[in-house]
Amino acid sequence: MTTILETGRVHSGPQETVRTDLSVAHRVAERFGMTDLIYTHFSARDPLDEDLFYITPYGHLFHEIDHDTLSRIRMADDGMVVEGRLNPAGAVIHEAVYAARPDVGAICHTHTRAGVAVSCLKDGLLPISQFSLRFHGRVGYHDYEGATLVPGERTRLQESVAGVDVVILRNHGLLTMGRSIREALSRMYFLERACQVQIDALATGRDLVVPTEEIAAVTRDQYAGFGEEDMEERMDLEWAALCRLAASQGGYRHA
Ligand SMILES: [Zn+2]
Repeated sequence: MTTILETGRVHSGPQETVRTDLSVAHRVAERFGMTDLIYTHFSARDPLDEDLFYITPYGHLFHEIDHDTLSRIRMADDGMVVEGRLNPAGAVIHEAVYAARPDVGAICHTHTRAGVAVSCLKDGLLPISQFSLRFHGRVGYHDYEGATLVPGERTRLQESVAGVDVVILRNHGLLTMGRSIREALSRMYFLERACQVQIDALATGRDLVVPTEEIAAVTRDQYAGFGEEDMEERMDLEWAALCRLAASQGGYRHA
């Protein structure tokens, strides 16, 4: 599928596609209520240059972001080389993850009401809904150390994201990773839904029905066991639907 800006520019190369997909992700995330003024950020790694990634430009609302407004960060041994406006506190989170996880091609980070609420609970994400069971036993947690990374925290964050694609940043928000922005966004969508359901269920004050550990593990493995080919088809269908959603808001159409 090729995504086309309304300007008529066709983005068919891998670098262009990644940047356009990242723009689409911002627009649909806004539709899903995943924004926090100008203070959350999504990013995607350049497919041809592993030391380069594109990220939410600081100061923009998600619906204002397009292919050309994304900021660029080049990772170097002595720090980051930045092109475009940047939320420095946010960028270091993305840089730390990309540096530690060469398999990660994209990252979503949010401060949603439900996500932050769950991040404040000692129990973390509870295995109570189908939304959360897909992540059962595969959620990382990172303790809060302040609004920006403090000395040594980069290494601790890298330890927190090792071997998982979903991380709850305690007292802060949510972080998902994927090979592509569509995968990272899909995980964020379902993690957000899991958090919303958990908060709604807890708010009733009624006793919860909690599936057994065995059922929780079976459900997680079912989601994980759909197979690569089936997953690719799901992701393609899901992404095509999200592109149509972005197009319905203006700014993009897909072909
Ligand atoms: Zn944050």
